[in-house]
Amino acid sequence: MLRIVNYPHPALRYPSRPVTQIDEDLRATVQQMFSLMYAAKGVGLAANQVALPYRFFILNITAEPEQKDQELVFINPQIVKRHSSIEDEEGCLSLPGLYSKVRRARKIKVQAFNLLGELFECEAEDLFSRVIQHEADHLDGKLFIDYLGPLARHALKAKLQDLETQFRQAQASGEYPQDREIVTQLDNIMTLPSLLPVPAAQAAQA
Ligand code: ZN
Repeated sequence: MLRIVNYPHPALRYPSRPVTQIDEDLRATVQQMFSLMYAAKGVGLAANQVALPYRFFILNITAEPEQKDQELVFINPQIVKRHSSIEDEEGCLSLPGLYSKVRRARKIKVQAFNLLGELFECEAEDLFSRVIQHEADHLDGKLFIDYLGPLARHALKAKLQDLETQFRQAQASGEYPQDREIVTQLDNIMTLPSLLPVPAAQAAQA
């Protein structure tokens, strides 16, 4: 059973590896992730938020489970263009209760594979663009709090400390393994062979 993990679970800081094949397992995982996202009233969810170090995320900017036609899956995504920037309020399902203004590109162009294994390209702006950038950051182990200046960070300090305390308690009670064990599990997944090609722009960076 998958569950959304909260800060400071090490999977949230783990740069994910490309998805290697699109199969029944991945489709089942995606369905579970949509259920978790809707239950948490979120608009996006990245694989490492359910402790899976793979480069894919899901989103539905309506946050409505009935709006199935708004569901999108981005596999091995690559943001290929960014245009101008805008600041807006942001939160994260792995940082419950924390919100802050974050500056991001207003308009982007992104390439990714869908669940059929087809490469697609889309342009996004405003909330759609923000969610894609937020989720793509997750795949690199990046969180929105990383963008905050000293003042905004200070304002969230107590809440971050609370999350840290809760997570350490969950580890102490055996709900989660210790950090070192989690990282070893993630490292083991990283050594599995790669089968699915990644978009050219991403391959060139590797
Ligand atoms: Zn998030």
